[in-house]
Amino acid sequence: MNFKLNQQIFSELYLNNEIEVFVKRLDLIDPFISGNKLFKLKHNVDRALLEKKNMLITFGGAFSNHILATAAYAKKKNIDCLAIVRGEEYFELNPLLTLAKKYGMKFCFVSRKEYAKRNDNNYVSELIRKYKKAFIVPEGGNNKLGVLGAEEILEKQDKSFDYIICPIGTGATLSGIVNSSNRSQKVIGINCINDTKDINKNISQKTNKNNWEIINEFNFGGFAKFDNVLTEYLKKFKLNNKITLDLNYTTKMFFGFEKLIERRYFQRKSKVLLIHTGGTYGNLGFNYLYDLDLPYESN
Ligand SMILES: *Cc1c(COP(=O)(O)O)cnc(C)c1O
Repeated sequence: MNFKLNQQIFSELYLNNEIEVFVKRLDLIDPFISGNKLFKLKHNVDRALLEKKNMLITFGGAFSNHILATAAYAKKKNIDCLAIVRGEEYFELNPLLTLAKKYGMKFCFVSRKEYAKRNDNNYVSELIRKYKKAFIVPEGGNNKLGVLGAEEILEKQDKSFDYIICPIGTGATLSGIVNSSNRSQKVIGINCINDTKDINKNISQKTNKNNWEIINEFNFGGFAKFDNVLTEYLKKFKLNNKITLDLNYTTKMFFGFEKLIERRYFQRKSKVLLIHTGGTYGNLGFNYLYDLDLPYESN
């Protein structure tokens, strides 16, 4: 895949601690088929087309980056798609679903109870019976093909980094990064959701090395949870580095990263690569729900 190279960023904190910091700008690949989602989708969609399926079915919350990315990518690849969305339908679609609809996505809104069955074999078989030629992409693109795509995030020249850091939702992205890392590199996942047990299990099943660690203390209470400290951090980061972060994941990642520096987590003279996994259009959802004015365009 062809994407812009790593960008170095600077601050007094990095300088004082003698670490070099780079950001892999997956956010610049496409605003809607955002960052890591493209990597997790590509082999899934290739497989669907190979199997002559005529539709993708996937799952997500009403503000899910994965839903929007799937809609945009399906359009690009000329395949229909249906999203099973957690929660009831509102009178007005939120900005993310409005964009997804523009790409031709159809929605099926289900109760939380039904949504909880999204990974059950019976439920999935029933969907396949109903929509005969559908290809199922699990929530967040979290399957083997998704991890295979995430293995393509690191490039050859990234072997020079001592630490690689990415945010965690399902852990599929981290799993792919671990698989393509060197054993001498340390891969750190900043957990941005509530659940810790399932993530560890998911990653252990999908990786072949143990050079990774998950940091759980910077999730700000769980997925989509935030406070003023976090929104101020996002805005300051934009001012200092001209990089837009998303509030769900990459803001928590950078916030946690800088706290780790203050604690002398990183060896002096080391090189750190943080993966900007995209998702900045998710900020539109926060602006809509909480009347905020977060930036959402990359650059
Ligand atoms: C979905 C998403 C993640 C989480 O990726 P996983 O592979 O599920 O861990 C991280 N960052 C952004 C911006 C995302 O949209």
